[in-house]
Amino acid sequence: MSIPDLNSSSNLYKKIIFSVEPRSYRYVLVLFFKLTNITELAVGGSATDQVLGSGVTDNPVIKMPTLVYYSNNNNRVEEIVPYIPGSTIKGLLRSIAEKHVAMMDKNNKRKLIDVLMKLIELDEQSKTGYLDKHDVSEIVDKILAKILNQYLDEKIVNKICNSIREYNNFKEFIKLVKKASETSWSSDLGKALEEIVSDEEINELMNNIAPIIITILNNYEISPDVCNPVIEGLMCELPIPKYKLLLLNALSETINKNITYPCRICKLFGLPGYMSRLIVTDAWPLGVKKTILLLRTHIAIDRLRESVVSGKTFDIEYIAPGAEFGFIIIYHLATQKDIEKIDQNNDGTLDKLIETIKKASNKTDEENLDLLKKIIENIETNGVWIGKRKTWGMGKVEIKLEATALIDLSKQTDPSHNPLILGKNPNEIISQYIKQGIPLPLKNTLQIFFPTT
Ligand SMILES: [Zn+2]
Repeated sequence: MSIPDLNSSSNLYKKIIFSVEPRSYRYVLVLFFKLTNITELAVGGSATDQVLGSGVTDNPVIKMPTLVYYSNNNNRVEEIVPYIPGSTIKGLLRSIAEKHVAMMDKNNKRKLIDVLMKLIELDEQSKTGYLDKHDVSEIVDKILAKILNQYLDEKIVNKICNSIREYNNFKEFIKLVKKASETSWSSDLGKALEEIVSDEEINELMNNIAPIIITILNNYEISPDVCNPVIEGLMCELPIPKYKLLLLNALSETINKNITYPCRICKLFGLPGYMSRLIVTDAWPLGVKKTILLLRTHIAIDRLRESVVSGKTFDIEYIAPGAEFGFIIIYHLATQKDIEKIDQNNDGTLDKLIETIKKASNKTDEENLDLLKKIIENIETNGVWIGKRKTWGMGKVEIKLEATALIDLSKQTDPSHNPLILGKNPNEIISQYIKQGIPLPLKNTLQIFFPTT
C-alpha cells in the first residue's frame, strides 16, 4: 500500500487522525477492587457448570475448577468455584463509559442519514469517483440492513437491500429518506419506495413500510466519539475498510472537525484488530467457603389466564447476597518518560496519582485516564447491575476501589525497588479471608502487582 499524500486536498485521509500507539510499555497502573453483591447474583453459566456445580439446575451460575488456598502455608485444595468473568465486568464498564462520553459530546452527534447524504455529495463532486460498487454494498449490508433488521422482518429487509445495493438506487433511496423527513410529503412515499425497490412481493406492503423505514433511518444518530458495537458497519476496526474511511470522512465534513480514530471508547477498551490496553481480570470470591450458592424454584405463570401452568417450574441457582469478590483492572501507559514520585502517605489519592501520571503522558493517555477515573467514580457511587434477572432486582452489586499500584516494569526485577502502592496492600486485605479460601488466580495476580516485602 502506498503512503497517502497528506497535503492533497482531495485526500480521503485528510480529516481522520489515526491514534495508534506502539506496543511497548514501561508503566502499568493497577487497580484492585472489592465487589459485594447486595441482592442475589446470577451470572449465567453453561451446561458444564451444571455438572460441575452444586446440583442439577436449569440455570446454573458460572463456575470454574481451580486451586483454592486455605492458609498461608500453601494448603491448596482443588474446588469448583463461582466467579464473575472479566469480560462481563469489562462489558459493563464499557457501557458506562459509552453513556458518559455520549452525554459529554452531544454536539458531535449527527444523523446517519445526513452523513450518507454528505457521502453522496462528496462522491458527486469528486472527479475520479469516490464510492465504488463494493463500498455501496458494504454500507447497505453492514449498516442499513443491520439497523432495519432490528425492527423489521428479515425477508422484507433483504428485498429492499437487494435493490439499493445498485448505486443509483442507493442514491435515490437515501435522498428519498432525507426528503421525506424534511417535508410533510408522505402520501406518495410508498409509491416512491416501490419504484426504487420494484419487488412484486412486497409492493403491496410499501405504503405501510415506507413511513416505518423513514422514521427508523431518520432517527439513527452516529458520533465520532462513541462507535456502535452492535451495528457492524458503525463500529471501529483495524485495518479500517475503505467504506468506513469514506463514511468517517463524510462525518468529519458534516461536523466540520477532524476525527480521531478509533473512537474514545475503543481507545480505552480496544477494538477488533487492536488489543485493549485495559485488562480486567475475573472477579474471584474473597472467602470461597462463605460464598453461598442457593437454588430458587419458580413457577411459570400463564400470561393469558394469569394462573400457574401445571407442572411448569424452573430453578435458578444464585449467589446469596453479601458475597465478596476481588478483581483487578490493569491499564498499560504509553509513556516511556519518568513519572514523578508522589508521597503515598500525604498525597495518596487516585486523583493526585492520575494528575501526576498525566504530566508525563500523551493526549490519548490523558483522555483514557480521565475516562477511567469517571468510570470508577460512577461505579463507586451508583454500583452496578450484573448478570441475569435484573428486572427482578437480582444482581445489584457495590464496587469499591481498595488499592492502586503504579508499577515501573523496567524496575520490576530490581529487588530494592518498591512500587508505589496507595491504600491498604491487597495481600493484607485477602489475608483476612484466607481461612475461608482464596482462589489461586486472584492470590497469584495480587502477589505479582502488590508485592509484600
Ligand atoms: Zn469505537
